[in-house]
Amino acid sequence: MTKQSAMRIVIVGGGTAGWMTAAALARFTQASVTLVESDAIGTIGVGEATIPQIRLFNAGLGIDEAEFLRETRGSFKLGIEFAGWAGEGRSYMHAFGNIGQPHGLLPFHHYWLRARAAGKAKDLAAYSLNEAAARRNAMQIWRSEPGQPAPDMPWAYHFDAGLYAAYLRRYCEARGVARIEGLVGDVVRDGESGDIASIALQGGETVTGDFFIDCTGFRSLLLGEAMGSAFLDWTHWLPCDRAIAVPCAAKGDFTPYTKSTARKAGWQWRIPLQHRIGNGHVFCSAFMEQQEALDILLAHLDGEQQAEPNTLRFTTGMRAEQWRGNCLGIGLAAGFMEPLESTSIHLIQSSIARFLQMLPGARIDPAIAAEFNRHARFEWERIRDFLILHYHANGRTGEPFWDHCRAMALPDTLEAKIAQFRATGFIHREHEELFTPEGWLQVFAGQDVMPESWNPIADGLPDEQLAAMMLRIEQGVERIAATLPPHVEFLRAYCMPPDQRKSA
Ligand code: FAD
Repeated sequence: MTKQSAMRIVIVGGGTAGWMTAAALARFTQASVTLVESDAIGTIGVGEATIPQIRLFNAGLGIDEAEFLRETRGSFKLGIEFAGWAGEGRSYMHAFGNIGQPHGLLPFHHYWLRARAAGKAKDLAAYSLNEAAARRNAMQIWRSEPGQPAPDMPWAYHFDAGLYAAYLRRYCEARGVARIEGLVGDVVRDGESGDIASIALQGGETVTGDFFIDCTGFRSLLLGEAMGSAFLDWTHWLPCDRAIAVPCAAKGDFTPYTKSTARKAGWQWRIPLQHRIGNGHVFCSAFMEQQEALDILLAHLDGEQQAEPNTLRFTTGMRAEQWRGNCLGIGLAAGFMEPLESTSIHLIQSSIARFLQMLPGARIDPAIAAEFNRHARFEWERIRDFLILHYHANGRTGEPFWDHCRAMALPDTLEAKIAQFRATGFIHREHEELFTPEGWLQVFAGQDVMPESWNPIADGLPDEQLAAMMLRIEQGVERIAATLPPHVEFLRAYCMPPDQRKSA
């Protein structure tokens, strides 16, 4: 059998997107990969909270988890706490993993709704092992055995974005990825096909290739500027457009979860790492001045501020075509949604996976690009809807920004999802939709979007069996959570060499 000749792939950009893409191409393809990045521009420097799918990416690359956590000064993440979203003083968690256990045909929550209506159920938190562990600041890699109240306890990571990119760079360079330091000045397109023929670096060098991957961040130099892929602006649904990020000294609880605290016109993140806490304030410039946003952020740091604040402007939305001709945008070059549910790095990963599945040979078929774009659009829009739900269902009455968000018109797809849940407790997850019914359920319940009813099949369970089921799961979750070690201790033992364990 003849092999197709190795494709020459040029990646422009060496942030998280560029190096993740290079690593996957180096690991799984025979392509010759060149990555161009510019120290003069640098990377965005944020993007430190993930969701459990990142473990599949790392495992695919053959990365050792303990080494990865050590090198990126990372920590474990069991979910996200949303404080103040349902109203000041209230908090709930979107914890990864199952809530209770399905019973027969139905997901657990139909039984929970029935028990709750009878005043015989606790908040959802009582039936989530991830949340029980997270609330105790406990962590362990825990796997279920038959009869346990949770099938497993999925985890993700927090990590230092700069160290992650550096780690992947070492991985790539050891596997033959060529790195060129230089500023791309011009993107040269073929007069006939419109494809990108080469990129010209300031200083004279020209880099040619068969396929170009745009990882240039918000600038979208190749896909947006050169190829003209239109930007779908979603600001009317997700109006935040600024963020200020600032690290502080590690202090306070070493939480195995990300915290998102609602503020007057946006929200603040807290991401605990081994050596610092990452903080940021995402806000809407139409409702808050920059100085006020900064003051709020600095007033809510656990420890001493460690660097100058980094202010970022963004527009929420995506490129209508993420793949056009011989150019694919990955990362911020393809679009952006605020980090409320830590989805951007996941979207990088899923674009890479999709691209590998559709990897072109000698000829790039526009039908393949169209299919890629169709899947991407679906995935992005469903994530967008999930984020909008957090804003739409807020309980912060009397604050102009939040009142505005509650009154916003919704996309039809989200309207339908809410209506279905309200009618029967039904939550449908379509193929390729990222968030699980458990994820939606926690946000619905945490922000008081409650159904009028549940699936009547749940009524078939006699009262005493329902009560026993609820109690068994609740007690099982408690029992397991009580055996888990503190996050900090587990992390030390798991990934640190003995001489560093004390200082972590
Ligand atoms: P960048 O990091 O901006 O990298 C761009 C690269 O392109 C750089 O290497 C630069 O040198 C290069 N470049 C640009 N122009 C040129 C040129 N002309 N010539 C040569 N090179 C060039 N995601 C999450 O998953 N979780 C989070 O918690 C999270 N938090 C976020 C918070 C904020 C406020 C923001 C804005 C984003 C957040 N993200 C998060 C998103 C995440 O930061 C990005 O998805 C991720 O860092 C990827 O960025 P990137 O590699 O696409 O772009």
